[in-house]
Amino acid sequence: MLFSQRIAHLEPEGAYIVLAQAQAMEAQGKKVIHLEIGQPDFETYANISLAGIKAITDGKTGYNPAAGIPELREALAQDIGRRRRIPVSADQVVVAPGAKPLLFLPLLALLNAGDEVIYPDPGFPTYLAAIEVAGARPVPLPLDEESGFDLDLNALDDLLGPRTRMIVLNSPANPTGGVLSLETIERVAEIARERDLWVLSDEIYSRLAYNTEAPSIISQPGMQERTILVDGFSKTYAMTGWRLGYGIVPAPLAQKLSLLLVHSVGCTATFTQYAGLEAITGPQDQAEAVRQAFQKRRDRIVAGLNDIPGFRCHMPQGAFYAFPNVKALNKSVEDLAQYLLENAGVALLPGTSFGANGDGFLRLSYANSLDNIDQALGRIKEAVRKL
Ligand code: PLP
Repeated sequence: MLFSQRIAHLEPEGAYIVLAQAQAMEAQGKKVIHLEIGQPDFETYANISLAGIKAITDGKTGYNPAAGIPELREALAQDIGRRRRIPVSADQVVVAPGAKPLLFLPLLALLNAGDEVIYPDPGFPTYLAAIEVAGARPVPLPLDEESGFDLDLNALDDLLGPRTRMIVLNSPANPTGGVLSLETIERVAEIARERDLWVLSDEIYSRLAYNTEAPSIISQPGMQERTILVDGFSKTYAMTGWRLGYGIVPAPLAQKLSLLLVHSVGCTATFTQYAGLEAITGPQDQAEAVRQAFQKRRDRIVAGLNDIPGFRCHMPQGAFYAFPNVKALNKSVEDLAQYLLENAGVALLPGTSFGANGDGFLRLSYANSLDNIDQALGRIKEAVRKL
């Protein structure tokens, strides 16, 4: 079968490949601890689910405007405005079925063939996929392990060129858990203003930061007119399957994104949006309790990983991933991940699932119980000892 050049490079997400393998092992009766998938292990909070159910029984089941229902757009404008201390109006808000479409559609709206996009490597695999589908040239930017995976600003300077049109940021980050420092954000903002660049800032983990606030580039002077802020409900409110995300963009771009949405997905499920409205306007105590639970698990897993000979793990400042450096083991990380799945029954990902610069690292999601995390650490330690 012949396919277009546009999709020739697409590859499955590493997490789904390992999940399928782990499930096949489970089907044979083996016990596997899942530290591969980036999904909260909590159910959607009851007040949110009930709001979704009520919306369905109230008949909120038809089509709605492509950019989202007005109540949710208004509530999101106020929420982001308050959190990021900027004026945001509802016509700058675009609602979509998940954050993912908003990592794709703005690129289709803004980029032409040959434009260059600088994106973090290691980074979330959808950035590369979206850049290439949009016909642009991906330019991977290394992260600096020593600074907790902040951007390597010297490398950034070297990568900027006449064709650079966009920089992708992700803070707190998948897969590293890194949070960009204010200095880095100020520097990227300066570059973007000087060179007239767009910044796509993926802030899906913005409410999962520990002992720190993750600053947003949208709060920097002059940045609202060139920032695509992407956020969503999947992680903070344990709503991965509901499919609800949003972007905060300049109003003229919101209109174009609305056209792309109407011609691709039509709109986002109406009852899902009412559930989202409850999520952001209702009580936040469960989201906060979950954040604290993640922080406890983070402390446990990082301490445990640093106790394994050959592992060196930075303390992640956000999200729910640990990204230990295992270079001292002198093994390919793909082989190591496979070995740990087969011999320790622990599913995790090689850093290379997130780009070439992920070599030498593993990614473990700590969206799992403390019991399972303890067991996994014990099994990994034992299996590594036998290497
Ligand atoms: N951005 C990052 C960095 C992620 O890790 C994920 C999900 O894993 C997403 C975006 C996608 O989120 P959503 O479920 O809202 O599409």
